[in-house]
Amino acid sequence: MTQDRRSGAIDRITAIDDGCIGHFIAGQAVPGAGTTFDVTEPATGQSLGTARDATAGELDAAVKAAKDAFPAWAAVPGDKRRAVLHRIADLIVERAEEIAAVECVDAGQCWRFMSKAAIRGAENFRFFADRAPGARDGQALPAGGQLNVTTRTPIGPVGVITPWNTPFMLSTWKIAPALAAGCTVVHKPAEWSPYSARLLVEIAHEAGLPAGVFNAVNGLGETTGRRLTEHPDIKAVAFVGESRTGSAIMKQGADTLKRVHFELGGKNPVIVFDDADLDRALDAVVFMIYSLNGQRCTSSSRLLVQSSIREAFEAKLAARVANLKVGDPLDPATEVGPLIHQRHLDKVASYMDIARADGAKIAVGGERIEGAGYFFQPTLFTGAAQSMRIAQEEIFGPVLTVIPFEDEADAIAKANDVEYGLAGYVWTRDMGRGLRVSQALEAGMVWVNSENVRHLPSPFGGVKASGIGRDGGDWSFDFYMETKNIALAYQDHAIQKLGA
Ligand code: NAD
Repeated sequence: MTQDRRSGAIDRITAIDDGCIGHFIAGQAVPGAGTTFDVTEPATGQSLGTARDATAGELDAAVKAAKDAFPAWAAVPGDKRRAVLHRIADLIVERAEEIAAVECVDAGQCWRFMSKAAIRGAENFRFFADRAPGARDGQALPAGGQLNVTTRTPIGPVGVITPWNTPFMLSTWKIAPALAAGCTVVHKPAEWSPYSARLLVEIAHEAGLPAGVFNAVNGLGETTGRRLTEHPDIKAVAFVGESRTGSAIMKQGADTLKRVHFELGGKNPVIVFDDADLDRALDAVVFMIYSLNGQRCTSSSRLLVQSSIREAFEAKLAARVANLKVGDPLDPATEVGPLIHQRHLDKVASYMDIARADGAKIAVGGERIEGAGYFFQPTLFTGAAQSMRIAQEEIFGPVLTVIPFEDEADAIAKANDVEYGLAGYVWTRDMGRGLRVSQALEAGMVWVNSENVRHLPSPFGGVKASGIGRDGGDWSFDFYMETKNIALAYQDHAIQKLGA
């Protein structure tokens, strides 16, 4: 079964544009004429094919398609947009196995998580589909003698730029609300995992989305990504990726005054107090850093554990980490797969020397796994201090840093002592403490006695270097739409008679 899934996915990938993936513009596959770059399979290190970096002309064509399609799509009644988005969700569900297998092969993510990720992508479409009819609704704000009425209109063609870690699910989270709002889209997926983005754009057209409403271009960040963010006809950029890329995009978009939405990196703390349900806390700690190969923005990559329970908790944790099943991502039993790329493997591996030099201990793992592919042992650092680089920097691999704390104030101080502020996790049976700590954490999202459980109406996003803006619920529409206020005078008032 595993082998069948892999060969099916590879057949599907190599069938796209005869093995050299190009673009999808105005409802058509466009092979492209730009330079090519290799795409490798993380589990084997072998080439899956090549991809085209869009030329300036191809990028312009994609933006023009989105611009031309915008007035008609924006005018489509909300209930009709709702119906198309539901059809997209239906087709994603029908093809969930195929999408999941492509994602495993292309991004190295494990089947046990990807088989659900495609379905979550469909749920993202359904959630925003159902909100499409009400997206324009505004408020009535009475003032003395005037009634203020607000409405919302879609902002225009938007650029969506996504990373390689869970490409399909993440793209749907950005693209579904844009389409539901009435915007048109040019999507640029990450160069290390470009294939599931093609499946999504094809599915959208098969579902009846008009040509040009959703376009996808491939290419490198510094060329295609840059041109997209600089393009005067792109009104807003929704970006998910590294903090320093977000900073570059803000500069690139400055001349055209782009509206930006950034979901960036994290160095998220999970704080375990000595009164917590320690068995559940242990499950959550392991899940939130070692699932998705540690390549998850909301991963709890720092464990802050109260000193009184540190030794016992660390011992149980070490046993679990040493027991994680690393292997073929398509094998349903596998818990940790490979890292995305040789360059990323080198980056993660480099933190082993950094940890040793700073005086931390590698309690578990710490080595590349010999053989094909970009595998790294699940790793646990102990004896760490908050000042060390392994406690400050986003490593983005299956690597957890344990830092002890003494009391509530110490936990809060250490949790906040990073440049990032995406998510935080708190484990305690004392709900008063849970609330106090949640309020004190510098983070966009806090889960108390829980791992990251997504709830689509709730806001998702970070503070500090972790982002600008929120997704989810109506927050997504606020980004993709302009609010207009119309003031209607319903009684005469004194108007100053200048020059009378
Ligand atoms: P990255 O920033 O290197 O690349 C992301 C995308 O940006 C890619 O498509 C890339 O081609 C493009 N890009 C690069 N330079 C660009 C430029 N100058 N102009 C325009 N586009 C450019 O990130 P990555 O390595 O692919 O992904 C990992 C990062 O993403 C991690 O930091 C992770 O925390 C973050 N992430 C955040 C969230 C979140 O919700 N906060 C979710 C997933 C991943």
